[in-house]
Amino acid sequence: MADFLRFMGHLAEAQQRTLDSQTTPVLPDAEQIRLCKAHGMPPLGTQTLQRDSSWREGLNTILEQVAGQANAATHAAIARIQALSETHLEAFADRLLSGDYADLDLAAAPLIGAALQVYWVRLATALEQGEFPRPDVHTLCPACGSLPTASVVRIGGAEQGLRYLHCSLCESEWNMVRIKCSHCESTKGIAYFSIEGGDDAVKAEVCDECNSYLKILYMEKNMAVDPIADDLASLALDILMDEAGYQRSGPSLLLFPTAQDA
Ligand SMILES: [Zn+2]
Ligand SMILES: [Zn+2]
Repeated sequence: MADFLRFMGHLAEAQQRTLDSQTTPVLPDAEQIRLCKAHGMPPLGTQTLQRDSSWREGLNTILEQVAGQANAATHAAIARIQALSETHLEAFADRLLSGDYADLDLAAAPLIGAALQVYWVRLATALEQGEFPRPDVHTLCPACGSLPTASVVRIGGAEQGLRYLHCSLCESEWNMVRIKCSHCESTKGIAYFSIEGGDDAVKAEVCDECNSYLKILYMEKNMAVDPIADDLASLALDILMDEAGYQRSGPSLLLFPTAQDA
């Protein structure tokens, strides 16, 4: 895993530099934001928001920055992305955002996913607090409507012991009570699995009602837990849950199911 995680570290650094260097993309107008809020809809919904071209500029910046650290397979993936027309790249992004991974170039997907994350983080941080609705659906991100990658149980102050789901796309976090399935909201048949002798800051929260799991991270066990990084670093737990017959309920945009199997 070392080489993979090291490359993901470079990718995250490239994301941060891209985030810092670019200006805010085009936000939905005030009327759209008002309507979304009135109807409890995410203002930055992946299916409704018109992406501007800055996400593709961000993608180019990311690809240039990680090329120096990429192995041969990743170099080939970078070249395939750079050869895509704007239309094909937008279609790739649409499929990635709607969870339609069949026949998708899964080696290229994390690089495109990384650029989409940067774009949506910039959108989410540009909105004011009062512009987000109180969502009707608690299992999807209130900012962009995406599924969570994992959840985090926080420590300190008013947030002590509270659990937050972490968006797979825009990195927003939203509160959900503990011991409740983050997929079907059942409170029955919830169990926690971890790797014996492994990192007890990362567990799989399993629901027997919908046969799914999502990882849950505990800051009281490790202050520095990170839902995106520690999700990637605990791939062994995904393999065990898969062998036990549970489906993962939320994606990582930096690692895809078939790629995991490989
Ligand atoms: Zn989101
Ligand atoms: Zn469930």
